[in-house]
Amino acid sequence: MRIGIYSFGGCEGCRYWLIDSILRVCEELGAEIVYEPLIGLSKESSEYDMVVIEGAVCTDEDSEKLRSLRSREKYLIALGSCALLSGVPGNKRFTDPHAVEMVYFGKPLPKKPIDVKPITAYVQVDYWIRGCPPDRENFERLFRAIISGIVSGKLFKLHERRLEFCRDEFASIEGSVLRLDGDKCIVCGRCVGACERMGVYAIDYAYRSISTIVTTPFSIPFDESTCILCGRCTLVCPVGAIHERSDLERVQRILSRSTALRAYIEP
Ligand code: SF4
Ligand code: SF4
Repeated sequence: MRIGIYSFGGCEGCRYWLIDSILRVCEELGAEIVYEPLIGLSKESSEYDMVVIEGAVCTDEDSEKLRSLRSREKYLIALGSCALLSGVPGNKRFTDPHAVEMVYFGKPLPKKPIDVKPITAYVQVDYWIRGCPPDRENFERLFRAIISGIVSGKLFKLHERRLEFCRDEFASIEGSVLRLDGDKCIVCGRCVGACERMGVYAIDYAYRSISTIVTTPFSIPFDESTCILCGRCTLVCPVGAIHERSDLERVQRILSRSTALRAYIEP
């Protein structure tokens, strides 16, 4: 089996995280990595049996490349939260458009940006692995199964449309100290792990497959959950979706009314 590994918009962390696993499994099962610039294989082939793609589609070039890969290759795996949910680059939608110009000091952008979308918004994906970065064990299990032919044509009918991206329902959880912005969340699960390690289990996954979200039980406010406000989840969130609430705007509003404001600060 000939494999190509591609990257669109993202930090490339998924590939760095998984490259050892990919090489080990390929060696064990006699598969060949044909294209992976990370390990010096930077000459593209006209044909692969499987392509693994990380990152979100951020430019016209990305979308053309993606469609071309899809039309030729047998298996296409979406790797990580950016490929599946548009992830960190997708949070560009919360950014002031002028901020991008400021970063480039008014010079023309290197590539023409488009609305950032997950690869699942453009093409049919055969398999996907969520996470930021994805769980190694899960990835290896899927990778082995495809290379060994265990899942070939068994889980899905040939040409069946297997995954349509339709994540338009979000759950935002409020609390007097914490807030989880569901529309920013890339379902990487880091906060769930942090909360588990604290032995609290205040947040967890809900629903299945592409409908998976991270939430409190029954989406109750943080103040009514078992949350102990340790803040560990806010430290590990890569996109700032779960964060401490700021009272700054409220204070500014009160100050603008010229009302006397009495405040005390806890250590
Ligand atoms: S603040 Fe602590 S207890 Fe509360 S959800 Fe986050 S990790 Fe869990
Ligand atoms: S809130 Fe942040 S850390 Fe938790 S799953 Fe969403 S993106 Fe990941």
